[in-house]
Amino acid sequence: MPDDIVLRLDRATAEDLYAALYEVGEHIAAGAPITRPTTEEVGRLGSLLQDLGHALGRRCSPYCEHL
Ligand SMILES: [Zn+2]
Repeated sequence: MPDDIVLRLDRATAEDLYAALYEVGEHIAAGAPITRPTTEEVGRLGSLLQDLGHALGRRCSPYCEHL
């Protein structure tokens, strides 16, 4: 489908994404604490967020030239 978005994730990023979504879900559902991510996790999730934003047509900054 032309409107689909496909992102390919390495295993570490996929694990980080799973953990982040799971923890946010548990936080919303039951107030469970969200653990602070490591520097490496922040880097991987930040790159994922930027890639997803670009795939959605969003600029990552006012000066973004990735689109
Ligand atoms: Zn950008």
